[in-house]
Amino acid sequence: MAEVASLKAEARWRQIPKHAQQAILANVWCTSCRKGYPVSDFVLTEDGDVVVIRAHCTVCRGEVARVIEDESM
Ligand SMILES: [Zn+2]
Repeated sequence: MAEVASLKAEARWRQIPKHAQQAILANVWCTSCRKGYPVSDFVLTEDGDVVVIRAHCTVCRGEVARVIEDESM
């Protein structure tokens, strides 16, 4: 399970349907690979009003981040 850095971010993440969570985690843009890849070891953080997932690319192990917009909540 994810490490939780922010309870508020986790609460918002939990509002997302499971299938949508899976879809998000299965395709996070990696700037090193220049492609969307599945991620692992994700952490939920907040940046102002948005939730940001910080994780590691499963291909190059580099750090990746994805902002979760309100419309995907
Ligand atoms: Zn990568």
